[in-house]
Amino acid sequence: MPQSAERRWCFADQLGPHFLDSEDQPVLLIEARAVFGRRRFHRLKAHLVLSALRHRAAELGEQAIFLQTHTYREGLEQVSGRVSVCQPTSRVADNFVRSLPSVDVLPARGFATDRETFERWTQSQRGLLLEQFYRDARRRFDLLMDGKEPTENRWNFDAENREPPPKAGRLNVVGPWLPDEDEIDEQVRADLDKWERDGDVSFVGRDGPREFAVNRAESQRALEHFIEYRLTQFGPTEDAMLAGDRWMSHSGLSAPMNLGLLDPLECAYAAEDAYRKGSAPLASVEGYVRQLIGWRDYIWHTYWHHGDEYRNRNALAAHQPLPQWFTELDADALEARCLKDVLAQVRDHGWVHHIPRLMVLSNYALQRGWQPAAVTDWFHRSFVDGYDWVMVGNVVGMSQHADGGLIATKPYASGGAYINRMSDYCGDCRYKPTRRVGDDGCPFTGGYWTFLARNHDRLKGNHRMSQPLAGLTRLSNLDEVIAQQQELGDGPP
Ligand code: SF4
Repeated sequence: MPQSAERRWCFADQLGPHFLDSEDQPVLLIEARAVFGRRRFHRLKAHLVLSALRHRAAELGEQAIFLQTHTYREGLEQVSGRVSVCQPTSRVADNFVRSLPSVDVLPARGFATDRETFERWTQSQRGLLLEQFYRDARRRFDLLMDGKEPTENRWNFDAENREPPPKAGRLNVVGPWLPDEDEIDEQVRADLDKWERDGDVSFVGRDGPREFAVNRAESQRALEHFIEYRLTQFGPTEDAMLAGDRWMSHSGLSAPMNLGLLDPLECAYAAEDAYRKGSAPLASVEGYVRQLIGWRDYIWHTYWHHGDEYRNRNALAAHQPLPQWFTELDADALEARCLKDVLAQVRDHGWVHHIPRLMVLSNYALQRGWQPAAVTDWFHRSFVDGYDWVMVGNVVGMSQHADGGLIATKPYASGGAYINRMSDYCGDCRYKPTRRVGDDGCPFTGGYWTFLARNHDRLKGNHRMSQPLAGLTRLSNLDEVIAQQQELGDGPP
């Protein structure tokens, strides 16, 4: 059995105090450069991960052995004695640490619900419905509960949390907490420049100021700022998009949380406290708590529960490769205003909130029949908060419907009308969301009907799709719509 004084190996997404058994436990940190050479990550993601790891090493001082090596194996060879590690967050890393005789693998940390509890819960269910899992978690953690009943007798405020954006073009809310860079960031930037110059690594996206917390103190400040100034407005407009307000009222805390710097339960309880003190409305607090102990945990557990084969599911037989303008984040090649703006944000910031991810980027990929595994890889590499466990369920299950409906009961496909209702993009776009064909035919609207036509037989057994599929038969110019979309092909819209 591992002793608590055993040196704890922490990966770069296990950097918070809750990954240690005691404040003075010896730590091993390995910065393995080969990780960045294997795939083309966003430059800002590489910066964030390296900055976080180096900040943790500086903070721990002599308590940590910090090794900068080519591979993890090389690093481990320099350490004598046994080490323990909390279960890593990817299947590849999990298999690797379990193959090492000198490493003890402990249960995962950094999530609210543990694996055993999740698996026990699955045995009491017929389907794995998020809503049921979330309610179970609310009860277990006594979050937003009054005795055995949910606070104000409501589990769900989705109806209130779906408002379109305000006409003003910006939310009237204090901006997010943003960090100041320090000398560690300066060194990271210099190293990444050198690695790129030497040809060791190649990145996508543009460099820019660091925008997310990389250590515990910064993460706590970012959390406090969100709870105090921004949580109130989070709920109502969480599904809306504004061209001139990329943060809206989103927390920006997914990056530090996925680095292991914040525990989801501490964030959930902090949000609940704000409600109990009367400083944030229940609808917003519930919407935020749902993301933390509901969706985030659900995606984590289904990653392991559904097995390794899950990532390769392709229920809608989507086999198109991702076009180069997309993989290279070439937003300047586009005219479709929503996609152009969102892709530019990914290029410049490595982050957009969950609705542009789902209803613009993923929606376009779904309509075009791009390979789900390639879309998953793209999101993993291009987002500062993207990790394998995050993206497999979110992309294969939620956004591409490639699992045939295990995670989402119907495909998240929508035309320009949805984007028009939930954003201010369409007004200044050269396309019209109501037009299916012609020079001003919206690629999302034409793409939506083409998607339905292509997948009619695969989706006809899904009762939630009967209405959209019935709409197809009423379309007088379906052939024309499909022909125009075929002509567009994988070119930039
Ligand atoms: Fe996007 Fe179509 Fe609206 Fe243009 S008209 S912004 S392409 S949804």
